[in-house]
Amino acid sequence: MENKPIARKLRLLSQLMELHVVNPFKIKSIANAAFNVDKLPYPVASKPFEELEKISGIGKSVAAKIIELVQTGTMVEMEELLAATPGGVVEMMAIKGIGAKKVATIWHEMGIETVGELFYACNENRLIEAKGFGLKTQDDIRKAIEFKMASSGKFLYAQVEPEADRLMDKLKGIFTNALIDFAGEYRRLCEIVNELIVIVGSRDQDIASQSILHSDLLNNLSVKEHRITGETDNGLKVVINVVEKRFFFRTLFIQTGNDEHVKAVLGRGGDDADQPENEELIYQKAGLEFIRPELREGTTFIERAAKKQLPRLISFNDLKGTLHNHSTWSDGINTVEEMAVYCRDELKLEYLGMCDHSKSAFYAKGLSIERVLQQQEEIDHLNKKLDGFHIFKGIESDILNDGSLDYPDEILKKFDFVVASVHTNLKMSEEKATERLIKAIENPYTTILGHPTGRLLLSRNGYTFDYKKVIDACAANNVVIEINANPLRLDLDWRWHQYALEKGVWLSINPDAHRNEGFLDMHYGVIVARKGGLYKERCLNALSLQEITQVFKTQKK
Ligand SMILES: [Zn+2]
Ligand SMILES: [Zn+2]
Repeated sequence: MENKPIARKLRLLSQLMELHVVNPFKIKSIANAAFNVDKLPYPVASKPFEELEKISGIGKSVAAKIIELVQTGTMVEMEELLAATPGGVVEMMAIKGIGAKKVATIWHEMGIETVGELFYACNENRLIEAKGFGLKTQDDIRKAIEFKMASSGKFLYAQVEPEADRLMDKLKGIFTNALIDFAGEYRRLCEIVNELIVIVGSRDQDIASQSILHSDLLNNLSVKEHRITGETDNGLKVVINVVEKRFFFRTLFIQTGNDEHVKAVLGRGGDDADQPENEELIYQKAGLEFIRPELREGTTFIERAAKKQLPRLISFNDLKGTLHNHSTWSDGINTVEEMAVYCRDELKLEYLGMCDHSKSAFYAKGLSIERVLQQQEEIDHLNKKLDGFHIFKGIESDILNDGSLDYPDEILKKFDFVVASVHTNLKMSEEKATERLIKAIENPYTTILGHPTGRLLLSRNGYTFDYKKVIDACAANNVVIEINANPLRLDLDWRWHQYALEKGVWLSINPDAHRNEGFLDMHYGVIVARKGGLYKERCLNALSLQEITQVFKTQKK
């Protein structure tokens, strides 16, 4: 064994010790030994114990470790510490810019155990206030994780959108007369995008392809039969298909819907439109109402398009208020008043629902009963002051392991509405998780089921439970299901929106804002809600102030 791998393992041991907050002198002696072993001009593996312990900066106990390492390839102490560390925490130590000490704080004090949760915490500004951290560290960590996520080739819709806008502007600058549009996952408003597809319809394919190739649109450009591929600066794969103008809409249609959808439409006679002048014609020939790109997944909406019964999809302007938001009372950045004024003046909304964290969420400064009462006093005061705007008193109550909520009934009944969410213990059997959620849904004080799976897209799988049973329970108990609009969550998944709507369940597009800009995430919530086929008549926060006041009042009876 050479010195380098020995030094590396000693260093790992010292980092693990730091992570588990072992005696600092011991940590220092191992770290020093790692440094010294690395610098020695001869292989330590060839030395007997008696010589090793005499080398400066090694000593008796480290010498024994080196012997163990050389003989067995590992160290019992290191293996034990590794076994006691969650995989996600080990993964965090590989992120540039955070040492073991910071990872220890993240793990022990913030309760974060995966890279995905850490990314989410950065986006919620939760790292700024922790000891030894600051805005810069948080930014560095966020960037390092984004870089790591990009290497998977998958991107969140919200990461693609600004790149797509920039690219479209540039393309329109190059081609003033061409037909240009996006296709594929991005045009279908998918929550994850693997490649950004662009269709360019031009009179001369050769000239068009050459102009793209000689532009600075993308990095690593290459071309094959008028199909140009390249990458944006952040590593997103882009495919530009250059076609003759007369085939533009047909190509756009074929490359937008998923295979099942495209086949089904063409099979119904859509194929007869050989050189259609727009996409509507293709649907017309197939005897269908025009199906918007976001609904072109499978055949779900085809039957309804045949009966001319497609939903009128919800839009941002339909939203009249915002529920589920966090202020400085728990882990938010803005005060209740700042948030209310922003919603009223900037977003022209009629109401704001405050849902700070409940008392079990210690990592997020959850509210004790006393603080709940103080906050409610503040809200009463603000409601008198704010003209033509209302703040609802809510709470994001943790769903405890057994499915009960975080406060006694006499406190729960003081809220206008309650969002019940799971934040801890995401690893449960499907059966137990389902029971836990159903018990929370059956609680008469639960108004909304918050981010049902707790997933963090591209980084943490959600809680697994029986969707049908949980949605059926919401229907039976008049509980609304949240579409959490944070671009990392988008949870309830759009694939379940139709089932929920069919069962009579209402949905609510909630930003889960932790600062004023967070309200803008409702844009992404609307996008997935449209993809799920939601219309304003079944969206809780599309109700006017007067209507929703009535709904909350009725529920409390
Ligand atoms: Zn939450
Ligand atoms: Zn929340």
